[in-house]
Amino acid sequence: MSRLVVWHDPPPERVGSSAVELLRNLGGPGAIFVRGEDSSRTRVLVTLLHGNEPSGVRAMHAWLRRGRVPRVDCVWIVGAVDAALEPPGFAFRHLPGRPDLNRCFRPPYEGVDGAIARAILELLDRTSPEAILDLHNNTGHNPPYGIATRADGTTRGLCAWFGERLVKSDLDLGALVEVSVRGAPSVTIECGLAGDFEADRVALRGVEALLASDSIVPEGARDVAVYDHPVRVSVRSGIDLAIAAVPRSGVGLTLAWNVDRHNWTEVGPGTTIGWVNTGGAWPVEALTPDGADISRDLFETDDGVLRTRRSLIPIMITTDAAIAASDCLFYVVRRSQ
Ligand SMILES: [Zn+2]
Repeated sequence: MSRLVVWHDPPPERVGSSAVELLRNLGGPGAIFVRGEDSSRTRVLVTLLHGNEPSGVRAMHAWLRRGRVPRVDCVWIVGAVDAALEPPGFAFRHLPGRPDLNRCFRPPYEGVDGAIARAILELLDRTSPEAILDLHNNTGHNPPYGIATRADGTTRGLCAWFGERLVKSDLDLGALVEVSVRGAPSVTIECGLAGDFEADRVALRGVEALLASDSIVPEGARDVAVYDHPVRVSVRSGIDLAIAAVPRSGVGLTLAWNVDRHNWTEVGPGTTIGWVNTGGAWPVEALTPDGADISRDLFETDDGVLRTRRSLIPIMITTDAAIAASDCLFYVVRRSQ
């Protein structure tokens, strides 16, 4: 039994005057089918797999509100509606006690979220889309970028509607973007910081242009830059973390508060990342996709300062201490040859 609410070509009163009103009308995870000029093809746009990442659903609402007829059929999939509507609104990635929905797209599909993920996968399989886009926000100041498991021409082209950068990653998280649906290109778009007007604009501009276009690759667009081999840099367990402009005494690692200015730029050896207790424990780990810790190749400590040892490109730097402590500090990528 499908757990998705299904709408077809919703009239304005159903779409409502805001994204929140639309979500209330929908009442739960759903699929909104919109007929296009050419019904021989379908594109799928996924929003709100994370309840605190509103740019995609705001773009969906604005686009539906305008009553545009897309070039080809499209299906909007809306995920964690209950998490998004939980007061104060767009505040929960997932509801407390429930798993992250974007980690449920692989067996055994347990519980409510496993069933939602499976219903979404069945719908993807039935509609056989020519492209799948999954719209997200992130927690630090980042330019918009895509994440995909491959970086061929159509995948890069799909990304190019939204940004100029694509991270190729062999993820193994149970995320939607890892699922291959009959060879269709599939890209996660990180539109920018959640709640940032610019991120909402990136999402809407990209969606409008893509849905109006006959091709899923924008004509004449500059090719996106591909980055690969992401290494996940996090605080080692047992090390406490602060984010500040100066070293915090007695704290295992103080991350420099403005380190996110290095996001997506190549930083040279000797760049200060933060500060450590002199004589304290090694503060970070840096795991390759194979699980090897290469932190001592990337960083060094010298007289209480944590520095880069060689040139590297940090991305997705967060300066939210809670997220940095529970998830990771940033990723290091290399420019694909
Ligand atoms: Zn997300």
